[in-house]
Amino acid sequence: MKFVFKKQNDIEYYTVPKLFEAGFYNIFTTRYHGHSFSEQELNFGTNCGDLEESILQNYTDVLALMDSTADMAVKSKQTHSDITLTVDTTYGGEGILKEQRYPEADGLITTEKDLAILIFFADCVPVLIADPVKKISAAVHSGWKGTQKNIVGKAVEQLINEHHCNPKDLLCAIGPSIGVCHFEVSKELFDDMTNRYGNEIGEIRDGNFFLDLKKAVTLQLTAHGVAVENIAVSDLCTVCEENLYSFRREGEKAGRMAAFIKRRV
Ligand SMILES: [Zn+2]
Repeated sequence: MKFVFKKQNDIEYYTVPKLFEAGFYNIFTTRYHGHSFSEQELNFGTNCGDLEESILQNYTDVLALMDSTADMAVKSKQTHSDITLTVDTTYGGEGILKEQRYPEADGLITTEKDLAILIFFADCVPVLIADPVKKISAAVHSGWKGTQKNIVGKAVEQLINEHHCNPKDLLCAIGPSIGVCHFEVSKELFDDMTNRYGNEIGEIRDGNFFLDLKKAVTLQLTAHGVAVENIAVSDLCTVCEENLYSFRREGEKAGRMAAFIKRRV
């Protein structure tokens, strides 16, 4: 499975055609083209100096590509936890038009056809999961803390235990995020993470320590029975790519991309 770049109604995004063909809209946004800041950017972050009305217009535009609206979409409430919450249409609009009722959720799951779920990111790893057999989707935010806590593996366990999914049926998309080219970490974190997930997720260059979070997440998925051929991994690094927001490159004022998933059928 592979990612492709698409431009639709001026909005530029990445998507996995296989997931679409299997019945799921899936959109990983870039910074172009929306209503935010002075450059008509496509921001979904609420604490980076953007106007609420601009963000809402961005939601409206992107959700329209998925035949959806803001009152039928739910945004996660990310605290770098390992919590994934199952939501239904009664949650519609939470995190977008009104406050979320839940204190934290770095992942969302839904069985509802008409509900779009999303997580936001800028360097952290966005993961979308679809089960075309059980008609369930999940969106998970896996930063380094979430990756350390195995939130993606736990989300798959939840799909298996609570929703009776067969991991062999799951299609997964690991979106653009900070690459091993840029994710330099302390030796302590490097040792901790390679101890947990294997030496192949680490690289030592000139005595400096780098982690490959996308590889770690891939391993968490395969460890829970997801087939490697059912995982699409974006090769884009958010720090390297100017069309993506990056917390490392831009600091506190960086905007946020969003990863959306919604059933088509
Ligand atoms: Zn990079």
